[in-house]
Amino acid sequence: MTKRQRAKYLDEQQEDLLALPTESKKRKLTQEEVALRRAEVLRKREQQRKKRQDDIHRETIDRLLKKKPPTRKSKKATAAAAATAAAATEDDEQRYISNGSGSTLSLPPDMSNHTRYRYPPPIATCSAPGCSQLRKYRHSRTQQPVCSLEHYRLLDAAVQAK
Ligand SMILES: [Zn+2]
Repeated sequence: MTKRQRAKYLDEQQEDLLALPTESKKRKLTQEEVALRRAEVLRKREQQRKKRQDDIHRETIDRLLKKKPPTRKSKKATAAAAATAAAATEDDEQRYISNGSGSTLSLPPDMSNHTRYRYPPPIATCSAPGCSQLRKYRHSRTQQPVCSLEHYRLLDAAVQAK
């Protein structure tokens, strides 16, 4: 450290030391005051907590006991939900609706009658004469089912001849 640096360093040290007493200039609360203030904060916090708990408690009881008579708006909502449910049944759709007026599950009147529940159509057999193999391909032009490339060509030749 040069002489100048040393002087500057000491100056800063001095300033730090001088700065400290200002902290203690703040009015010191007595231990009793601190305790009182802390107790007050705790009391208020506890009060708020209790109030919140009471509110939740009361709201829950209200919700469980008092079923509000349906307002015009909720009547409308119920009607809308019923209409949607009816439409869903007409569509033979399974539909689950959940809204403010409750939840409904709509099923088609006869589920077995619905195309969605039918077995897939049987696989066609080859259209080459005398062949009963199951279809693997379809002729590109006639859409006739064929079992193999061999029979595809056979069918193709017949088409070409026409
Ligand atoms: Zn065939």
